[in-house]
Amino acid sequence: MIHNRPTNGDRTYDVVVIGGGPSGLMAAISAQSSQARTLLIEKGSKLGRKLAISGGGRCNVTNAKPLDELIRNIPGNGRFLHSALAQFNNYDIIRFFENLGIALKEEDRGRVFPRSDKASTVVSALVDYVRNLGVDIRLNSPVNNLVAPNQEIQGIALTSGEVITARAVIVATGGANVPATGSTGDAYPWARALGHRIVPPYPTEVPLTSDDAIILQHRLQGLSWHNATVQLTAGTKPLATESGDLLFSHFGLTGPVALRLSHYVSTALRNNPATIFTAFIDLGGTDSQEDLAKRFHEARLSQARRQIQTLLHQTWPQRLTEVLLDIAQISGATPVSQLSNAQIQTLARLIKKFPLSISGTLPLNKATVTGGGVSVKDIHPRTMASKRCQGLYFAGEVIDVHAHTGGYNITVAFSTGHAAGLHAALFARQVSGTDA
Ligand SMILES: Cc1cc2nc3c(=O)[nH]c(=O)nc-3n(C[C@H](O)[C@H](O)[C@H](O)COP(=O)(O)OP(=O)(O)OC[C@H]3O[C@@H](n4cnc5c(N)ncnc54)[C@H](O)[C@@H]3O)c2cc1C
Repeated sequence: MIHNRPTNGDRTYDVVVIGGGPSGLMAAISAQSSQARTLLIEKGSKLGRKLAISGGGRCNVTNAKPLDELIRNIPGNGRFLHSALAQFNNYDIIRFFENLGIALKEEDRGRVFPRSDKASTVVSALVDYVRNLGVDIRLNSPVNNLVAPNQEIQGIALTSGEVITARAVIVATGGANVPATGSTGDAYPWARALGHRIVPPYPTEVPLTSDDAIILQHRLQGLSWHNATVQLTAGTKPLATESGDLLFSHFGLTGPVALRLSHYVSTALRNNPATIFTAFIDLGGTDSQEDLAKRFHEARLSQARRQIQTLLHQTWPQRLTEVLLDIAQISGATPVSQLSNAQIQTLARLIKKFPLSISGTLPLNKATVTGGGVSVKDIHPRTMASKRCQGLYFAGEVIDVHAHTGGYNITVAFSTGHAAGLHAALFARQVSGTDA
């Protein structure tokens, strides 16, 4: 039931959007385009700060994969997004930017970037569009709380003490990772106070940590592996298998494949903080374990006098060769002819399933994406409206939704921002009686 509420004369906004990231910018565009007088309020001095550093500073605006694959790449509550994506999806995002005159290009794995390779192209186009539509913008204006007596939105309160009245408010404050960009989890207590469940924030799309001796001794630090396939297990239970580039660092594993696996590590640790993980890294490429064993058997004849370390180094980097031989307990100087069948099997197995113990992930402030947030159970999936407070909407990473990198999170931000803006505007017009 919608009540007419007292307004503050002309000064009441139809829609106030809190947060000038991609979700807030799109929400403001969508609300103002739906004839709602809209204010976009941002605590920092710039709009789109996280967007500007996304995709390695090139801004991975969306991903061109079909819907089912898009949802598969949103491991954190992707199914919640079906309805929002039905209203504004990745292809709509591509059309949106092309209509703004931003030329886009598709790269590997469906990732879509501006042809300029500059995030600033995307951020400027969005900000200019917001301004040209006539959205009021206030920077350097941190919001302190929502004003919602009796679970009905009346506006927002700034930390300065100023209160701005509004018929609808969209919370688009982002997650709690990389706080220097402004996303510091401010909205969680506001939402909790109004009865929303908050899934405690946790790091995701984040490097993996390891206390394996190989990592602690920096034996593979700096080694990168192109398109590795990594299977993650918890105890003996397989959790996930992902492929992509991998980098051994001084603390563990990083690179796209490690980031993708971090969702499973964080999720398992939330259920059981004592979980013990192993990453089995396939260093054998397209060769199976049998292929590798066959190659070593053949080498026993064709390269009989060659040392095993020299043979392995023909394919694998020197440091990796040394580690493989240490784990297999084979002296590098052993002539290939003297390798036993059991040693050949051990080496072939190690190369296909190189085990590395994983202890967890880097903390939230180092994560690319925040897991957790306002529970999807308390948000209507079609409108992004709160189920707890009338006139309140959510968009973007503040919601308990997270995706793999590759343009999927930004797609979530734009899609939920679009739905929230549209439906908040419709709500505000109904409340003010301006709806036809
Ligand atoms: C280094 C990095 C690389 C990334 N690369 C990719 C990528 O390649 N692909 C991908 O899909 N995603 C990527 N992401 C994730 C993506 O950038 C985010 O998911 C996206 O920016 C979330 O948008 P948002 O609008 O919900 O939140 P944000 O972009 O975080 O914006 C939230 C805004 O709200 C403002 N705000 C917060 N609290 C208040 C308050 N109290 N008052 C007023 N304003 C407030 C903040 O200052 C901020 O401007 C990357 C993230 C990082 C950090």
